[in-house]
Order: sequence, then C-alpha cells, then structure tokens
Amino acid sequence: KILILCPMNNKMKNIEIFNESKNYMPGGVNSPVRAYKDVDVTPPVIKKGEGAYLYDEDDNKYLDLVGAWGPMILGHCDKDVVDAIKSTAENAIAFGGTTELELKLAKHICTTVDNMEMVRMVNSGTEATMSAARLARGFTGRNKIVKFAGCYHGHFDGFLVSAGSGVLTEGIPGSKGVPEEIIKNTIVAQFNDIENIRYIFEKYGEEIAGVIIEPVSGNMGVVPSEPEFLRELDNLCKKYGALLIFDEVMTGFRVAYKGAQSIYGINPDLITMAKIMGGGLPCGAYGGRRDIMEYLSPVGPVYQAGTMSGNPIVMSAGYATVKKLYENPSYYDYIENLAIKLQKGVEEIAKEKGLPIVVNRFKSMMTIFFNEEGKVKNYDDAKKCDTDLYAKFFKHMISNGIYMSPSQFEAMFLSVKHTEGDIDKFLDIMRKM
Ligand code: PLP
Repeated sequence: KILILCPMNNKMKNIEIFNESKNYMPGGVNSPVRAYKDVDVTPPVIKKGEGAYLYDEDDNKYLDLVGAWGPMILGHCDKDVVDAIKSTAENAIAFGGTTELELKLAKHICTTVDNMEMVRMVNSGTEATMSAARLARGFTGRNKIVKFAGCYHGHFDGFLVSAGSGVLTEGIPGSKGVPEEIIKNTIVAQFNDIENIRYIFEKYGEEIAGVIIEPVSGNMGVVPSEPEFLRELDNLCKKYGALLIFDEVMTGFRVAYKGAQSIYGINPDLITMAKIMGGGLPCGAYGGRRDIMEYLSPVGPVYQAGTMSGNPIVMSAGYATVKKLYENPSYYDYIENLAIKLQKGVEEIAKEKGLPIVVNRFKSMMTIFFNEEGKVKNYDDAKKCDTDLYAKFFKHMISNGIYMSPSQFEAMFLSVKHTEGDIDKFLDIMRKM
C-alpha cells in the first residue's frame, strides 16, 4: 500500500490505526468504498471535521468534497446541529417510544416537501428503499420491482443487481449471498432509455408493483434523467397501475429543498430519503401518498419496524438541518454557483492539458468523469471511464490535501461552508496534475 504523501508532516498514526483496524473489521472499514482498495492508497483516518475541512490523525488538513457522501450540506459540525444534538442528549438518547421530536420532523417534512402526505422514519437509506419496495408490493399485490442499471438503492438483496456506487467500483455484477429467487422479481431497465422501459411494461406491466429510480443518479457518478424519459416512466406507471418510487436519498434537500421531483415536476407515489434529513446521523425515511402509507402496520397489513427508528437525537439533528435549509433558500443558489465555478474551471484545465474529461453536473452535485467518448448518459457510458486515470487524479488530489471519492462513480458534494477560495484551491492543485 502506498502511504499517503502527507501534505504537512510525516506522522504515522493514520497507517498504524488503519492497519490495526484490519485485524478487527473486514478490510479495516465498515463500508467498502472507504478502504481505498482500487486506488492503492491508505485512507486518512479522520478525527475532526470543521466547515468544509477535515483533519486526520496525522494532523493533515483536507478540503472535503465528499461531505459524508451527501449529508453535510451545512458543512461539518454546524453549530445549530451540534447544539440540537447536545441539548437533546441531555434528556433523550433512546426510548423506542413516541416523542414530540418525531412529530416535529415528520410534520416539517410533510408540510414543506411535495407528495409526502405521510412519512415513516427508519435508520438508513437502505432501510427506506427496502421498506418502500415491500410497501409497493403489499399495496399493489404484485411482486416485480423495476430498477435501473447503475442506480444504487442501498444493499438490500433485491436491489443488488446492476447497482452503482461500491458495487460498480468493485466491478462485481451484484453480490454473493443474494439468492436468485430473490432477484428474479427485480427487473433491470436501462437508464434514460424510453424504448427499453416501454418494452418492459408491455411485457410485464400487470406484474409490476413499482419502479424505483434515482431521478438524478449519483451512484454511477452524476447522471441526470432526461425529462422526457422521466415523464414517459411516470405515464407508464400510471397506465399499468405500478407505483413510481423516487429514491431521493441523495437528491432530497440537496438539488433543491423539495428534491429532484420539484425540478422535474413529477409527482411520485412514494419517496425515499436519508442523508441530509438526518443531519449526518444514521437515518432514513420513506413517505408519500396517504392511502399507500396507511397500508403500513399498525394501520395496515404491511409490516415494518425498528428499535431505533425516530431516535430522538437523530430527529433533532435532522430537524435542525432541514429547518435551516428551509429558512435559507439562498443556500441553494450559493452552492450551485460554486459548483458552476468548479465545473467551468475543471473543463478549462481539461482543455489546457488535453485530458479526456466530461463533467456532469446537476445543481450542486457533480462528477468529473475521465471518459474518451465525451458523454455519460447511462451505466454503459459510465463503465467506459478510464478508472486508472481517475486513480492517478485522485492520488494527486489527496496527497495535496483535497479529499475526494476514491471511486470514479460517485458524486462530489459541496456545502454552504465552501467558498470561492476553496474552489480556486481545488483548481490550482488540479492544474498541477
Ligand atoms: N439510495 C441512494 C440513492 C443512495 O445514494 C444510497 C447511499 O448512498 C442509498 C440509497 C443507501 O443509503 P444508506 O447508505 O444510508 O443505506
């Protein structure tokens, strides 16, 4: 393994901790992408986050473009979020019972986000999508779920086929341990391909319980849906009585306060959320049409539960975060303008240096693809990226204090704490690649 070239000093604590971690946690990590396996670098062991910056155990400082994979839109350790966590923890850590804090967050989400008449809190994005799929099946009495190649909806068995994120990075079709009987009810469709989804509905329409999609995929890198494709998908779902599930785990409260649905002007039947809505604590939620949500236990026949669901500290961190975003709509323009500056800068550098780069950006989510073909519109395009060149880029950036995803197939995330100076810093370092 290559040691990270420390930008500021030569301490060894990162590598010592990571090596010891490998004795106690598979690969030294609790989620695969964190191991930096494909870029052959020892990951920094992070001890502190502040605003747009991270600090590792060797006291190196990094400009953070990962943002905990999306949640940290207010920057690390935002004072309002920290205060909410601290004051709740004084009295309420966990009850597994009903609290007013749950109501506060649920009501806030249902009254400020469209198409969320009711919501159920869970503990991760995976739980949200898994539960939404069960609910769609229970509600429609059908078994098949359609997902799109390259979209990642967490590590639930039924969705681990042609998935993005770590599954795509590791180059595996799915995962060992997922029985064929489970995925035989998952139909994989092509993203942004109207003919393909029409064909699937013609063939299986009466059996399809629901279609789940990341309206803007962030898990094959950023690839937005084409508006006419989403419109046709919506029409087909309505025509055949299948539920349309928008997975807004990444895009919710990120691309706009009201999520990608508000930009595309489409009204999904169910929406899944996580990341930002928990303010950086473990969280998830799914919600939507009242008649569908009332199919959930204890009102209806579809069972789903959780000891930690609606945990008071998570609810207070989530509420502090979404309330602040709701009260400061200008944040969204601010972050998008930074992303535009970053995109333009990267495209200029690519031109200057003759690098095969395509930048896909949707609002403040973006990916720098190393791709000769000049476009990335779906999973097949994404797979053609030059991951060796990306790894070279990544190593250059991280060894100069820019913390990015070690995988080509992830989104970069900015926060309200990033500044134009931070973007200039990124570009100056990239120019020296
Ligand atoms: N759905 C989408 C769109 C995601 O991006 C992710 C995670 O990145 C998930 C679901 C799974 O969420 P979690 O990692 O919280 O289980």
